[in-house]
Amino acid sequence: MERARESTVIKNVPELSGNLKRDLLQEIAREFGTPVYVYDLDRIEQQFRALKEAFSGRKALICYALKANSNLSVVQRLAQLESGADCVSLGEIKRAILAGIPKYKIIYSGVGKQEFEIKEALRCGILFINLESREEMLCVEKCAKELGVVARISVRVNPDIDPQTHPYISTGLKENKFGVSIESAKEMYLYAHKSSFLEPIGIHFHIGSQLTKLQPIAESAQKIARLTHSLLALKMEIKFFDIGGGLGISYNEEETISPYDYAQAILGELRGLDLTIICEAGRFIVGNSGVFLVSVLYQKENQGKHFVIVDGAMNDLLRPSLYGARHRILALKNAESLRNVDVVGPICESGDYLGKDIALPPLNSGEILAVMSAGAYGFSMSSHYNSRPNCAEVVISKGKARLARTRESFEDLVARELECLK
Ligand SMILES: *Cc1c(COP(=O)(O)O)cnc(C)c1O
Repeated sequence: MERARESTVIKNVPELSGNLKRDLLQEIAREFGTPVYVYDLDRIEQQFRALKEAFSGRKALICYALKANSNLSVVQRLAQLESGADCVSLGEIKRAILAGIPKYKIIYSGVGKQEFEIKEALRCGILFINLESREEMLCVEKCAKELGVVARISVRVNPDIDPQTHPYISTGLKENKFGVSIESAKEMYLYAHKSSFLEPIGIHFHIGSQLTKLQPIAESAQKIARLTHSLLALKMEIKFFDIGGGLGISYNEEETISPYDYAQAILGELRGLDLTIICEAGRFIVGNSGVFLVSVLYQKENQGKHFVIVDGAMNDLLRPSLYGARHRILALKNAESLRNVDVVGPICESGDYLGKDIALPPLNSGEILAVMSAGAYGFSMSSHYNSRPNCAEVVISKGKARLARTRESFEDLVARELECLK
């Protein structure tokens, strides 16, 4: 039966739920200190299963995009669920393998893969490499030839479609650096098909992140499906249709797409194509499964504007500063009379904030705030700016919290520096 191309509107405000309970979070803050990231592994499992379920009835492989959250315990849990991995560096490939993801379920994407990375990926025998340019294809061919292997590849096609998301995370427009045009892709496939060291087995697109509209996804799938038909007609053995990641989540009250509608929009364009679908979801799996806990340090008022200064900052959670992302922030103690404040960190930048105009109750120093929806692109984007050691990460499963990464020390910060003038 044909379903209308209409998305059921999913509008959910991220709340503390599942393993993320106020008491347990308070306890974690007390035991492990703040700032600290906390991930609910059971919620991650639910999200993974929901996505897998959406594609059930088709051959499909979810390749979790490690860059969203590459904590080993998180990746291990996904490995146990038989997830594959989408990696964008040799470091991520090694992490995926370390966490137990089989090599034959790993794909390698990114515009700037280096020779040593490509060779290592080929030695590992990963599923395939997503090519992002003709020059890179020639480099992969050369590497494969030197190693005496055949490189399984797919070409990342840029469908030139506006994903209607934040410009920094849109990747499928011709002005973006990602992928190649449909015309160039065709030429690359023809070349690869003839090469003794390249084996085109997939086709790939990824138009952006935090996608909340079906239309651009369906249109992209349609364009790429058309190209796939023409490649199959040329006797190429394309087996994988890699739809990238990008499925959005609710940070506040935004409407998003359900995994079911997402899958249907794509499957609807694949009639007559017997291919394994690869979905490289990142944010959807981990985004709303994590919170970032910070402690209140001070409060101040500057000409009528109220600031709450906390111990976490843009070096821990960059999304507000980088994208103007709006994360909900909750006081773990129950809220009474709310007032609007800016929640800011200690870093010497005006752009260092975790939230603007956030409704919070009166707070005491030492109280804990939970920055919601911080499971994706949180810790994985953190830096050492202002010589701030990276914070700790904690995972919860079945109500039990465990330290998953220790807080860095000052010694960690300077460990690789050489005192040249001493
Ligand atoms: C970032 C990225 C993803 C994951 O994106 P999400 O929005 O986190 O789902 C998947 N594939 C590629 C190629 C990416 O660059």
